[in-house]
Amino acid sequence: MTASTATTPMVELEGVHKWFGHNHVLRGIDLTVPAGTVAAVLGPSGSGKSTALRCINQLEELSGGRIRVDGELMGYREGTRRGQPTLFRLTDRQIAHQRAAIGMVFQRFNLFPHMTALGNVVEAQVRVLKRSKSEATERANALLDRVGLTDRAAHYPAQLSGGQQQRVAIARALAMDPELMLFDEPTSALDPELVGEVLAVMRDLAASGMTMVVVTHEIGFAREVADQVVFMADGVVVEHGAPADVLDNPREARTQDFLAHVL
Ligand code: ADP
Ligand code: MG
Repeated sequence: MTASTATTPMVELEGVHKWFGHNHVLRGIDLTVPAGTVAAVLGPSGSGKSTALRCINQLEELSGGRIRVDGELMGYREGTRRGQPTLFRLTDRQIAHQRAAIGMVFQRFNLFPHMTALGNVVEAQVRVLKRSKSEATERANALLDRVGLTDRAAHYPAQLSGGQQQRVAIARALAMDPELMLFDEPTSALDPELVGEVLAVMRDLAASGMTMVVVTHEIGFAREVADQVVFMADGVVVEHGAPADVLDNPREARTQDFLAHVL
């Protein structure tokens, strides 16, 4: 890794605001995620965690502020109008292109029910990246192997456990060769005995150097795997820092209250 890639943040949120009608959901979010690191985002329900993730990959349009991924402004291009610096919205096609570099894994796995595990991992490679069927299949098999599902490639989602489905969803996201992976409570919909197998895949991914932003209630995972823990409440980052600092010595009352309830 060169010095410059080591110092360019993979993700940078600067004063990000989001309104839904009269609801001011994100109230000035700042966040920096260095390349190759993991940020775990914690916070009560309704604090804007999912919205923040969705803004990063432009599933939601910002109401204010800026987001950069690997140095590139998301959703906009900078220009001037009548001599004034102005942001111009990119076209849907340009935004889709930016989004393709970001993998997202949701609480619900959203696999195509009529396709096998292999088919689910092959599909977007062929449709979006225009890979040949054989190249996409080779890559899909390697990724299914990586998430421990070699023997489930021909199974349909309904024949897989929730943990297996979520691992297929992770393989599907990785098949697009993302430079960044976003996870929105990836284990919250799983039976407790299936959580570990999904976290293990995510731990391996982090160890391989993937930049990850993970919204999670899994405090153990955050402590072990995250480089920084970000605690959000009411649309702001209340505090962030090393896991040991935020989880064991939270400075803010809201963080202390939250941790008292989840630990
Ligand atoms: P979290 O993920 O932390 O639980 P969310 O980002 O899902 O929080 O939601 C934050 C707030 O934004 C909530 O009040 C929610 O109702 C509102 N919200 C989220 N998505 C939408 C939407 N598409 N339209 C209107 N309000 C929304
Ligand atoms: Mg959420």
